[in-house]
Amino acid sequence: MPDVLVIGGGVIGLTTAVKLRESGLAADIWTAERADRTTSAVAGATWYPYRASPVERVLDWTRRSRAYFDAMAADPRTGVTIRESLQFWREPLTELPWWAGAVPDVRLCTGSELPPGFAGGYRFTQPVVTMPVYLRYLTERFERAGGSITTKAIASFSEPAAVAPAVVNCTGLASRTLADDPEVVPVRGQWVRVANPGVERVIADFGHPEGEAYLIPHRDSCILGGTGEEGEWDTTPDPETAAKLVARCAELDPRVARATVLEHRAGLRPVRSAGVRLTAESTVEGGLLVHDYGHGGAGVTLSWGCAEEVESILRARISR
Ligand SMILES: Cc1cc2nc3c(=O)[nH]c(=O)nc-3n(C[C@H](O)[C@H](O)[C@H](O)COP(=O)(O)OP(=O)(O)OC[C@H]3O[C@@H](n4cnc5c(N)ncnc54)[C@H](O)[C@@H]3O)c2cc1C
Repeated sequence: MPDVLVIGGGVIGLTTAVKLRESGLAADIWTAERADRTTSAVAGATWYPYRASPVERVLDWTRRSRAYFDAMAADPRTGVTIRESLQFWREPLTELPWWAGAVPDVRLCTGSELPPGFAGGYRFTQPVVTMPVYLRYLTERFERAGGSITTKAIASFSEPAAVAPAVVNCTGLASRTLADDPEVVPVRGQWVRVANPGVERVIADFGHPEGEAYLIPHRDSCILGGTGEEGEWDTTPDPETAAKLVARCAELDPRVARATVLEHRAGLRPVRSAGVRLTAESTVEGGLLVHDYGHGGAGVTLSWGCAEEVESILRARISR
């Protein structure tokens, strides 16, 4: 019998299960879908606390996660690299952003760093995570630590609770029904992946009148984003939106307008109005149910910090 069953095999479930296994707890995963079919596989992904709350806990989890990503960046098999990042705004900025406490090297852009049309900006370094590679890496790391992944969709938490004394709910948006939580809602994000024409830095325009624009360079490709459509459930990429994204991103780097398009994707960020739910409760079976969902646009960013917290909750309850 496992000590813990983690339900969900996206970035939150996989990271939690790796953390638990590597700290000596026998954790296994049950998941409706394998990692490459999850929302996590659609993430851009940069280490950045986007659309997640509450602020103090998010800053703490973001800071803790950074140490893991910095360490993984030393190994190219992880899909993690550290990139320079520039965020531009159309109005002047005089103060560092709310997330500055989690980012070691953020500073205001100097005037000479601002392209025409922008009046303010931030400059910092940021882990960039190539999700298909990273999710494969996490899966292998978990299996190497002795964990097993079973493809199984649950209808209720009493199913895993009958098998293990502790269950961790990492089902993201599905917690809306599984945990009967209407506060978790989709915020749709769409992007276009193009062959990388030589983009080296993450560049974002957060003041574009038609919506955000950002370029996230990976090794051979570059993601052009993005949208943030609240309450929208459709994951079919919209061609008109894609054309607008390419045009907005070309204002930041004209080379992307001529780059070969490789892929269109859209996914649903699990945003929770009350903030990430990381809480523990007793089950009617006498076991423990830890919820860990609602990470919004920052599941990758918060993953290791949240996994540390889940581990300490379980450590206090399970003696080994
Ligand atoms: C376009 C886009 C860009 C993004 N960019 C970033 C970024 O740059 N940085 C960042 O940090 N975050 C980013 N995000 C957010 C990030 O993708 C999410 O916060 C994260 O994927 C949530 O992970 P999760 O594991 O909770 O959920 P998911 O990845 O959705 O995983 C949920 C898991 O639960 C399983 N499951 C569901 N129902 C059941 C059931 N009944 N029984 C068993 N298993 C079940 C699923 O099969 C899946 O394995 C982005 C998201 C999108 C859509």
